[in-house]
Amino acid sequence: MAKLTVDDLELKGKKVLMRVDFNVPLKEVDGQQEVANDNRIVAALPTIKHVLSEGGRAILFSHLGRIKSEDDKPGLSMKPVAQRLADLLGQPVTFVPAIEGPELEEAINQLEDGQVLIFENTRYADVVDGEQVKRESKNDPELGAYWASLGDVFVNDAFGTAHRSHASNAGIAANIAQTAAGYLMEKEIKFLGGAVENPERPFVAIIGGAKVSDKITIIQNLLAKADKVIVGGGMAYTFAAAKGEKIGNSLFEEDKVELAKQLIADAGDKLVLPVDAVAADKFANDADTYVAEGDIKDGYMGLDIGPKSVELFKSVLAGAKTVVWNGPMGVFEMENFAKGTLAIGEELVKVTEEGATTIVGGGDSTAAVQQLGVADQLSHISTGGGASLEYLEGKTLPGIAAISEK
Ligand code: AMP
Repeated sequence: MAKLTVDDLELKGKKVLMRVDFNVPLKEVDGQQEVANDNRIVAALPTIKHVLSEGGRAILFSHLGRIKSEDDKPGLSMKPVAQRLADLLGQPVTFVPAIEGPELEEAINQLEDGQVLIFENTRYADVVDGEQVKRESKNDPELGAYWASLGDVFVNDAFGTAHRSHASNAGIAANIAQTAAGYLMEKEIKFLGGAVENPERPFVAIIGGAKVSDKITIIQNLLAKADKVIVGGGMAYTFAAAKGEKIGNSLFEEDKVELAKQLIADAGDKLVLPVDAVAADKFANDADTYVAEGDIKDGYMGLDIGPKSVELFKSVLAGAKTVVWNGPMGVFEMENFAKGTLAIGEELVKVTEEGATTIVGGGDSTAAVQQLGVADQLSHISTGGGASLEYLEGKTLPGIAAISEK
């Protein structure tokens, strides 16, 4: 890849600004905040450890939740995150309860090679004196320049916010000589960027989930790039309706029917739609169900793809060299409507074993592969929901655009 990575940087003795994604869930234990799930902290360790072992002085920061008023601040402090990071790293982590000012500057000046500091939630800057000014979230240029002035080089490892232009990503990058991708960011660029820019073929995309309107741009972008685009999940029923089929009470977006008709006409056999559905008489796991081929009976709704669709989708996936998957094939949260999603997950494991690069594009599909227990058998599970969607839509992500070229 053409982007600078943390491996390209001279780190010894440098003040290394590191934008990490420590937006983790917190819980209260005995009146104290604690990290409820440290997956994201664990995931960031390789980049942090690399910087420290090379003799860098790590200055870490992240957003945590959303800050809309002064009242939000105490419950969204980075302090418990700093504690967990220290435990995981096995070394002290200096926590500075400020996002700017002399206390922070002093602490940074006292850092020695191989030491770590983390400062307060970057979104504290979104509320100043009780007013929601969004200095971080609207990329206030003075804030980005200030944070940049605190370090020598910048490492961005927070893919989850790469689709937003914030002071803590694009703002800093605009004011510092070198911005490099951390290992997590590098992996996202390699897999997601690789799939949309230069996929090994055949390239098959699978798009599911609830709403056509959310994913239509992805479908359009991928129809231009992939060899086949499989559409499943609730959004498939708007396509079924566009073909003139009866869809009962299934999910339906009337204002997208014309667009669906257009896509069906333009895409020809590149677009692969379900040929049957598991139809249910109510949105519940204990609903009365039957497999509908073609029309769905009045009073019933399609909640999963049926067995013939599973076979069809498997045949399309056979021999694929690159697969991108975003969105479940049905209401996978309910056991009786999880079969289609499960079957696709299992098939992805199979094509991965056969040499395909398989990429799950964040959000609900990530939850699905974790639920299926196959996450570590696929090539890449993206960590960014919104960011991976926008990447797959073919948009330029400001956080990635701001990383220096090699
Ligand atoms: P999305 O956020 O667009 O990826 O949508 C994910 C959600 O779509 C999940 O919560 C699924 O339960 C839901 N979903 C998938 N298929 C269907 C369907 N046939 N009917 C209703 N909801 C669905």
